[in-house]
Amino acid sequence: MMDIQVFDIFKLHPLIMKKIYLFLAFIVLGNLVFAQSIIDRDQAINGMVKEVSADSLQSYIKTLVAFGTRNTLSTQKAPNRGIGAARIWVLNKFNEFAKASNGRLTAIIDTITYQPDGKRVDSTILLGNVIATLKGTDPNDHRIFVVSGHLDNMRTNVMNRVDDAPGANDDGSGSAAVIECARVMSKYSFPATIVFVTVSGEEQGLLGAYFLANKAKKEKWAIQAVLNNDIMGSNNSSETKIIDNTRIRVFSEGLSVLDTGKIATNIRNLGLENDGRARQLARYVKEIGERYVDNIEVVMVYRNDRFLRGGDHSPFVQNGFAAVRITEMNENYYHQHQDVRMENNIQYGDLAEFIDYEYLRKNTAINLVSLANLAKAPAVPEEVTIQVKKLDNFTSLSWKAPLYGKVKGYYILMRETTSPVWQKKFYTTATEMKLPYSKDNYFFAVQSASETGNESLPVIPAVAR
Ligand SMILES: [Zn+2]
Repeated sequence: MMDIQVFDIFKLHPLIMKKIYLFLAFIVLGNLVFAQSIIDRDQAINGMVKEVSADSLQSYIKTLVAFGTRNTLSTQKAPNRGIGAARIWVLNKFNEFAKASNGRLTAIIDTITYQPDGKRVDSTILLGNVIATLKGTDPNDHRIFVVSGHLDNMRTNVMNRVDDAPGANDDGSGSAAVIECARVMSKYSFPATIVFVTVSGEEQGLLGAYFLANKAKKEKWAIQAVLNNDIMGSNNSSETKIIDNTRIRVFSEGLSVLDTGKIATNIRNLGLENDGRARQLARYVKEIGERYVDNIEVVMVYRNDRFLRGGDHSPFVQNGFAAVRITEMNENYYHQHQDVRMENNIQYGDLAEFIDYEYLRKNTAINLVSLANLAKAPAVPEEVTIQVKKLDNFTSLSWKAPLYGKVKGYYILMRETTSPVWQKKFYTTATEMKLPYSKDNYFFAVQSASETGNESLPVIPAVAR
């Protein structure tokens, strides 16, 4: 209205007026596009990203390396050396952050006595996972989101518990990321619960992760997602000498152990081999990570882990939870599971000097934003279905409100069957949508969204007859 009044005063020729209006329309549209890219980011999460500090991460890794060795079989009696001292230090860090959380963050060392197993444990040990829990603010919301790294490490010989093993990257980097996420996130509140954990016994056979995952299954924890961080702070490869600190890998399995019998038949009938829960989580980490963190690309790898290797997400995967592994783009095997030494002018050993802290900051932030967006989002929509009563070229979806969380609306996701990522995102405040796209040619899913645009994990529709 203002515009028309202003231009009426000048009494311009209608053709000139038309040009001016077109010009104004361009400016308005341009601003909308610009504004859109800012609105897409929840400002609270944007603020959290800015708090993730390369200096903090560096100080954690420096301290972890200073424990000499963190081998799971190492001393638990020395005050400044070995796995025992290291886990007490992590517990103290968590307790320090707890003070700023109004009692919402609590931390423990969850222990179990582990007997010699004839493999990588040759004496009775007390295995301990350091766990910090940021309780959700909604008492009805039982969802749990987990971020993990492993505190233990190894030399070339995994049974050597005496000599120095720095373990700066494997897995000082993942442990530091977990601690930094806890530091930043514990100052904020989320409706759902977030669990920050540094496990032990990874190098001895994923012992700490099995202990935690088995317990979670037995006690029916409502774990929705596990982000396992292992080897994520070095930016270059051995042998091929690639340098890259702008890409990070997320490994995910295609099908879950639960996908058997009728579920497997349904997956085959509908072509849903690429839509398992871990794969959806990986897709989510890519979308949300790249939305909030600049200068980083999340590269999905379609397998549970690196070729013939394993990690702490696997015990969760085996218990039916959605779990992924986050690992640097290129691994340097001169610095992994190697005694510190010089050989043929090559420095071997997992030393702190090989960490790229800016890269680690971005990779930590990828975790933080994924957890924050998940924990701020409502639960997933219920009873998501796709109508197939008659043959037509539309796709009609309907769903019900989630069991908990405040919903502002829903996103309907769409992608071509060959696309690795969702390509279109439709928004509605209703609980149904009819789209002019054929279900023959696309995959669809529905997410719940909060007032600040935080979306739940997607739900693939079931067939409604
Ligand atoms: Zn590792």
